[in-house]
Amino acid sequence: MNDKNRILVIGAHPADIFDQSAGTMAHHTARGDWVGCVVLTHGARIHDRVISDEMFHRTQVPEADELTQMMAERSDVKAQEVVTACALVGVKEQDIYFFGEDDAVLTVNDQNVRRLARMIRQIKPNIIITHFPKEDGAIGSPHATTGQIVMHALFLAAGVDPGDRNPPHRGVHIFYFGQGAAAARRGLWGAEGGFYNDVLVDITDVAHIKVACLDALQSQGYDGAYARKRIEVNDGAFGTLASSAYAEGFIRNSATVGQYLPISDMDRALSRLSDQELIQRRSYRLDETKIPFVKRVQLKPTNGLKQPS
Ligand SMILES: [Zn+2]
Repeated sequence: MNDKNRILVIGAHPADIFDQSAGTMAHHTARGDWVGCVVLTHGARIHDRVISDEMFHRTQVPEADELTQMMAERSDVKAQEVVTACALVGVKEQDIYFFGEDDAVLTVNDQNVRRLARMIRQIKPNIIITHFPKEDGAIGSPHATTGQIVMHALFLAAGVDPGDRNPPHRGVHIFYFGQGAAAARRGLWGAEGGFYNDVLVDITDVAHIKVACLDALQSQGYDGAYARKRIEVNDGAFGTLASSAYAEGFIRNSATVGQYLPISDMDRALSRLSDQELIQRRSYRLDETKIPFVKRVQLKPTNGLKQPS
């Protein structure tokens, strides 16, 4: 079991871990690695069909108490969707950790850093996958903040903290969610460079599973047509970089160490393919009949608001 990895995937919002790394998670659970997920915020404000969409067209939103109650309900729906999607990629319900932070203003603070550090000491991952701490110039981005919380937590986890009996944990390999394909940079804060996607994971064989994960995220409209479009434009773009149909991109935090240069079996195989064979690999399109069916949850009627059809 010594060569098995313990991978912790940490996302800001319920959808992020799937959007960015569902295929990679599916590969690792299939080879026997342990994969756990942390969802930092409840995400009720993010693209939610009730909270962010239907409220938008009202002249007035409900009173604070009622709205808070509605958001709590939507958070539960989102958490349930995460459990459903995790099952598709082989992550067990007991290995999903919901921090339940409010997604209003996410900050790096003593509380969330300490809590995550304690979790890292307890779980002892050797790999962490999370958001790039400089995403969108790290200004007003809950994704960037999440990446920063993780970096602070890793620093703290490498030492002791009174009240936590778990010994320090260090030496974690960090991979940030890829930048560029998933969100082509078009704003001023994204103009800063200095990094690139240096790890590409070919997920063509599990792309249909990833679509099913997005199908499960119906509270925010990621299901159906959007899931298919998303896989084509994001994972398809990373796939083109990877000389394959669909891929997920990552940014390594630090240099890899070994006695030899890191050339993978796939690097070697790809170098033996002709130009036309490479174009063929890139041209493969998702087979709709392979996508596992995800049952649509009947959304609870909320206060006379119209339900998505
Ligand atoms: Zn997000």
